[in-house]
Amino acid sequence: MPKRQHHQPHASSDGVTNLAACPLCAASYDPHRARVLGAHGEERLLHVACGGCGNAMLTLVVVTPSGISSVGLITDLSFEDAQRFREASPVSADHVLAAHALPTDIISRLL
Ligand SMILES: [Zn+2]
Repeated sequence: MPKRQHHQPHASSDGVTNLAACPLCAASYDPHRARVLGAHGEERLLHVACGGCGNAMLTLVVVTPSGISSVGLITDLSFEDAQRFREASPVSADHVLAAHALPTDIISRLL
């Protein structure tokens, strides 16, 4: 059974949360569970899975001359799903209208 470390999320006074711990279960992220989804110059898009709750964080890390900054988004996507959606074409207004026109029974089978 994985060892869990519980910490309170580290929120600063400006509301920015430290991304070293999962904001959902407060377990510390294991850096060995971080996988690179993409890279561009000094930017890295990471998928970091939480060993505590099974959710993950998509984190954009940017290295600049003044330091390293990051921003994260909680997700339930696996690394493979995140890769697939990252490579997929964006959803357009036409896609949304086409989905809206589908019969209800087809939509219920898709969900
Ligand atoms: Zn978690």
